[in-house]
Amino acid sequence: MLDQITIQEFSKTLSQPLIMPIDPGYDEDRSVWNGMVDKRPAMIAKCLNIDDIKNCINFARSQDILVSIKGGGHNVAGRAVCNGGLMINLSQMNAVHVDQVKRTVKVESGATIGDLDKETQKYGLATPVGIVSKTGIAGLTLGGGFGYLARKHGLTVDNLLSVELVTAKGDLISASETENSDLFWALRGGGGNFGVVASFEFKLHEVGPEIMTAQVFYPIQDVKHVLKFYREFTSNAADELAGYALVVRVPPTDPFPEEHRGKTAIALVVSYAGSLDDGKIALEPLENFGNPILRILMPMSYIALQTSFDQGAPKGMRYYWKAHYIDHLSDEAIDVFVNNTKDIPGPLSVIGFEPFGGAINRVAESATAFPQRSASYILGIWSGWIEPQDDEINLNWTREFYNKMTPFASGGVYSNYLDNDDGDKIKASFGSNFSRLQNIKNKYDPDNFFRNNQNITPKT
Ligand SMILES: Cc1cc2nc3c(=O)[nH]c(=O)nc-3n(C[C@H](O)[C@H](O)[C@H](O)COP(=O)(O)OP(=O)(O)OC[C@H]3O[C@@H](n4cnc5c(N)ncnc54)[C@H](O)[C@@H]3O)c2cc1C
Repeated sequence: MLDQITIQEFSKTLSQPLIMPIDPGYDEDRSVWNGMVDKRPAMIAKCLNIDDIKNCINFARSQDILVSIKGGGHNVAGRAVCNGGLMINLSQMNAVHVDQVKRTVKVESGATIGDLDKETQKYGLATPVGIVSKTGIAGLTLGGGFGYLARKHGLTVDNLLSVELVTAKGDLISASETENSDLFWALRGGGGNFGVVASFEFKLHEVGPEIMTAQVFYPIQDVKHVLKFYREFTSNAADELAGYALVVRVPPTDPFPEEHRGKTAIALVVSYAGSLDDGKIALEPLENFGNPILRILMPMSYIALQTSFDQGAPKGMRYYWKAHYIDHLSDEAIDVFVNNTKDIPGPLSVIGFEPFGGAINRVAESATAFPQRSASYILGIWSGWIEPQDDEINLNWTREFYNKMTPFASGGVYSNYLDNDDGDKIKASFGSNFSRLQNIKNKYDPDNFFRNNQNITPKT
């Protein structure tokens, strides 16, 4: 137990006073996206600069207290927060600087996808990130990162050029292909195991400002038919095309027909990261397929596309995730999927397939720490509900569905989708890169100071 004087002295070293449990704002600052997570750190440091991060690390090390690092707070397992320790909250370090000439962007590690997209799109540029704008760049990048642009331009980590990081010793170092290249390799998929990242630098590509998109919703009775079409439509698709097939509840708003609102549906959400004309041709098969509830094919601003799922994943609700990589979507896999998606208990649940392949597959497994390069899809079972009394039914349903889909999975799991009870899957999530990651952990964090994460334990 730390005494008040020690805490006050530490607080004075920071740009802003520590937030303590009695302070207003403590509950907001400790909160994370998943409302199932309710942890209470002893203190929260809201960092404004690199010196604040260094002071946090030096203090926590000298006092032997656990640290957690909060970027966007979107990790489903709630790893941004810990009980009793120090939360290093980076949410105010969110500056984004675009270098239009070099086509690069430097992003402070508390920035969200929305912060990044807003600045880069001012110049008609973007780097591949995820599809919900409130997600943090830091956690997303350190785990891999993919979204609408990944088949064309690679994972977020494939576009990472350099990183500034504060180590467990409190030193600021850079990592890139030419500086601390072992660490740079590890940071591209190895999670928050090696230090606190202060900033990331990414490559940029020409994207938008408008890109061709489709959102087509079908009644759930058509799910089998739609998934078979989806399999054909995506299997030989151009890299520019990113197709999601998602079982969702129909939103209770316009333009959805009233009789379908709140009911379960299967949606094809597709984007084309190329010219609008090519996109129209590539998306043509969606013009005529099936009898949808709603069919919208139109150019959309990249920013609008990037925020179109934001409302569907509100902060503070209850979430529980499981995921598989899928190499081939067989008829049997579709049958099992179909039989289990008609009675989804959670009103906020989204179940379905995300596109892999393309440029993601063309990088060698050992080129970065992100190992699973060969899959065609990720199957996500992203359960979401509102009331605590519905926890058990949703947890059980998710686990059962996950188990039923396991025979069709290709092994491993995306580390950014690991939930609290997935400790036994962490090693598999790093695949054949685990041993090399462990060696690098030994070099940069032998005492496992950074452990409130998808933890790579040092070799003893
Ligand atoms: C609604 C939603 C949509 C999503 N969509 C996608 C998607 O389209 N594509 C995709 O790839 N993923 C997606 N994800 C998963 C996402 O990549 C992870 O949840 C990721 O952890 C979020 O990063 P964060 O910074 O918000 O997380 P946080 O919870 O803040 O951090 C998670 C962990 O990352 C590490 N970390 C964070 N900041 C730092 C730092 N500065 N230095 C070192 N370590 C740090 C720490 O270990 C921390 O515990 C989504 C998640 C949600 C909730």
